[in-house]
Amino acid sequence: MLVNTNEILKHAQQEKYAVAAFNVYNLETVQAAIRAAEQENQPVIIALGERYFPTVDVEGFSALVKALAEKSHVPVALHLDHAYEKESIIRAIRCGFTSVMFDGSAYDLTENIRRTKEIVEIAHMAGVSVEAEIGSLAKGEFSDEEEGDGTLTDPQSAKEFVDATGIDFLAAAIGTVHGLYKGEPNIDLQLLEEIQQAVDVPLVLHGGSGTPDAIVKQTIELGICKVNVNTEVSMAAVSYLQNCFEKKQMPHLSTVMAEMQHTMEPIMAKFVRLLANK
Ligand SMILES: [Zn+2]
Repeated sequence: MLVNTNEILKHAQQEKYAVAAFNVYNLETVQAAIRAAEQENQPVIIALGERYFPTVDVEGFSALVKALAEKSHVPVALHLDHAYEKESIIRAIRCGFTSVMFDGSAYDLTENIRRTKEIVEIAHMAGVSVEAEIGSLAKGEFSDEEEGDGTLTDPQSAKEFVDATGIDFLAAAIGTVHGLYKGEPNIDLQLLEEIQQAVDVPLVLHGGSGTPDAIVKQTIELGICKVNVNTEVSMAAVSYLQNCFEKKQMPHLSTVMAEMQHTMEPIMAKFVRLLANK
């Protein structure tokens, strides 16, 4: 069933587990995400980034996710990831997304608060929850995100930001990166603990790919309730294609799409299982 993201994350916060938010692009990626969640009997968040609006029909995509969610026995939420434009957020709200992320992390705190607050007012009128970010993730390898500068989240600014904006969940920059790590990950768990003590909203970890399982588990203990996963899933699917090319195979498109889905499912299920924290 389709549910509000906030409902899923509040439950995760109470019960000390996290929910996977998978970046998706088409039918097969959505099917893989929902099946992975069903296998593990856990909720899942389907996330579409604003940067894919030029290639993915947002209204059509939303209808697709809602139809698949209604057939599923696990809670499914539909989330707009990293949106920079108010117009994109309004478009997503209008066609039924259950949460939106406004990324004002490039602005200073005052301007980020002003812009985020406006988004919260619009979204909450429609019953849609809002994620926002202060600090900024650096860009690792194989990432498809905007370049960030790697500024970590300051706990006192986080408190001021959450109190002033009324956001529902906060993306905290604690050293994870978008994409895969260049070298050893350097995750600041002490900082995460300070952020958790400063704010009471569920916290979001961007850059789940490549983060060691033990560290992911520790972040869940320290308040992370949503983990964004993109690169590892993408790499698994593209590796399948590379393998076809290397073997000089030319499978039919229908086979390619189905095989890519089958390749992504176990990677996604691995994350869902890890985050379930059982
Ligand atoms: Zn992100």
